[in-house]
Amino acid sequence: MHPVVRVATLSMALSMALPATAETAVAEKATRVPDATVKQAVALRDKALADPTGWNVVESLTTEVGQRLAGSPADARAVAWAKAKFKALGFDRVWTQDVTFPKWERRGEAASVLGEHSQKLFVTALGGSPGGTVEGEVVRFDSLDALKAAPAGSLAGKIAFVDVVMERAKDGHGYGMGSRIRGTGPSAAIRAGASAYVMRPAGTDGWRNPHTGMTRFEKGLTPIPSASLTNTDADQLARLVKLGPTRIRLALDCGYNGTYTSQNVIGEITGRTKPKEIVAIGGHLDSWDLGTGAIDDGAGVAVTMAAGHLIAGMKQHPSRTVRVIAFANEEQGLWGGRVYAESQKNDIANQQVVAESDFGAGTIYRFGGHWGTQAAPAMQQIADVLAPLGVAYTPGEGQAESEMELMQGQGVAAAALDHDGVDYFDLHHTPNDTLDKIDPKQLAQNVAVYAAFTWMAANADGGFGSDPKAAWIDKGN
Ligand code: ZN
Ligand code: ZN
Repeated sequence: MHPVVRVATLSMALSMALPATAETAVAEKATRVPDATVKQAVALRDKALADPTGWNVVESLTTEVGQRLAGSPADARAVAWAKAKFKALGFDRVWTQDVTFPKWERRGEAASVLGEHSQKLFVTALGGSPGGTVEGEVVRFDSLDALKAAPAGSLAGKIAFVDVVMERAKDGHGYGMGSRIRGTGPSAAIRAGASAYVMRPAGTDGWRNPHTGMTRFEKGLTPIPSASLTNTDADQLARLVKLGPTRIRLALDCGYNGTYTSQNVIGEITGRTKPKEIVAIGGHLDSWDLGTGAIDDGAGVAVTMAAGHLIAGMKQHPSRTVRVIAFANEEQGLWGGRVYAESQKNDIANQQVVAESDFGAGTIYRFGGHWGTQAAPAMQQIADVLAPLGVAYTPGEGQAESEMELMQGQGVAAAALDHDGVDYFDLHHTPNDTLDKIDPKQLAQNVAVYAAFTWMAANADGGFGSDPKAAWIDKGN
């Protein structure tokens, strides 16, 4: 999951000020899923629950490719894997889009407490951090705001330590603050004069694993080595700081090294009667490099590929084209998503509806999202088919995830198929993000949700209201 900087809009105010817009939408023919399609979706849903494709795909990706840090040698292997896998799974068209980005490398990292309490600390560099070895006294802050309030120069020669415990939640909302601390903490530390930055991880586990993830340095500032501790080491460092002045050494060997061109890999099942109309689902192919990227986001790639595979195996193709996208380099700033969104921006009306799986492989418990009022009857029919899987219907709530949120921001109708993420941030961006953490039953439930949703959307009579000027589009808040 990557929190997108959302575009503030007056969409709500506009939709109230201009009732004509809503009336026009209501007047449009209501979208419905034909009865035969509903029956097929029920059968597809039940077949998916017993189908091993999702598991086989995520096992293949995490075993044969392993970690997939964008720009690393494994990036190219992952792209080749995705092209071959789409073909093997029965997609009739496989194509790619080039995605170029600055290449960041991690080569080594270590930290230790100096002096009378000398001991090792477990750390990992934040993505985007420069390398360097720094020694200095630790100054602890119990909030991001406290660090931001530190006067310029007050941390000269020191190491800033932001120590905030991330909240555990089913919908993962604690990550909002966690990712802000990771993304903006280093720049705040630089402005106060610090020579390095460490943080309690944006993670909810009690294991001794640091959580990596991207940070960004504001323009005009000279980047400093920036790292995440583990929750255990953050506890330890906080106790040491309480005892008295504490000096640590942070040694990072990492940094940017030229540029790299990866690819979005796209598999399609060409629509039978309306091939230009697209229902798009996907996940991101890259991962961080500490684990093997099983829950983030091998699962999302596997769930959507498996849903496409089951649809490709139906007696006939759906009316609309089903597109499954394995996005390049989500982790370092939605690089693949931005290329894809740009490529579709002049064809929004044909982008019927999108959904993305990038929040692990826990049970999907909620189906929400945003679409035109004419689509409400079809969405209710989809919700009825998903209900036996334990999925509640919450129209108007939730956002498309990660890359697909960019599509939503361009006016594309978007479904939010929300995973139970109560454990997600125990594993997210750590060495523990590995295949054994995925429950095959939950993964199959995810495939069943995606297969039924996609089949029904791709065969519905009528559209979902995608429109670059759609007043009902919720671009976030
Ligand atoms: Zn992700
Ligand atoms: Zn991630």
